[in-house]
Amino acid sequence: MFRKSIILLALLCAPFSLLAWGVVGHRAIARIAENHLTSSAKRNIARLLGTETLPLVSTWPDEIRSDPQYRQTGPWHYLNVAAGLNFPAFAAQLTAAPAAAIPTNAYNALLQVRQDLKDPKKTDAEKLFALKFVVHLVGDVHQPMHVGQAEDRGGNGIPVSWRGHDTNLHSILDGDLVEYPGFTYSEMAAAYDRASSAQIKQWQKDDMTTWLFESYQLCTPLYTAAAASPKFDYGFYPTFGPAVEQQILKAGIRLAGVLNEAFDK
Ligand SMILES: [Zn+2]
Repeated sequence: MFRKSIILLALLCAPFSLLAWGVVGHRAIARIAENHLTSSAKRNIARLLGTETLPLVSTWPDEIRSDPQYRQTGPWHYLNVAAGLNFPAFAAQLTAAPAAAIPTNAYNALLQVRQDLKDPKKTDAEKLFALKFVVHLVGDVHQPMHVGQAEDRGGNGIPVSWRGHDTNLHSILDGDLVEYPGFTYSEMAAAYDRASSAQIKQWQKDDMTTWLFESYQLCTPLYTAAAASPKFDYGFYPTFGPAVEQQILKAGIRLAGVLNEAFDK
């Protein structure tokens, strides 16, 4: 009985280890975006969402990942690239892959779903699907380890410990660092949503290649820290926490920019 409960518990907990930014991070990003929508965009999004909200749909693409019907969306959550690229080489890698009917990484997937949001030929159901993915994937690509190295699967293959428990570098960024301050998602949104109008203007002007390159660059000090000492204690938060907080804020502000562009009519 005890053994069965343990197995059941492990099964129940398993999907959450796949959530980039965790539930709290994704929902905080969506809430920050809501704070920066125009009233027209807000209205059009609410009509499409019906009884749902942006924070609630933000984690849906992770929830459906294990469903065979959505198997093709698995690679949409991340982008793995070689280490040590400068901006032009990085940008060239993004566009190097031949155009495929189904997106093969986070960059292609985001291009596709952003385009679907604005496509007048798409049905409401197709637009709702695209909206849920836009909300989720803008968050995912701001999680540095989602733009990590192919050889270690974005840090999944790098064992480290966090305050005494064994985990890996990817998981620390997905959950432990985000949850460290102990916020609910609305508390987190309220605490982090403090961008200046100049920052908002600049961040919403940046293109997707820039978003992805910033995440990619943030990986380097994380890989270096893990190589120097794979035992992370509470001192890890003051070192990397501020970058995590800013990535969540940037994701929310940029998501608002994308949604205003598609829904402000
Ligand atoms: Zn994801």
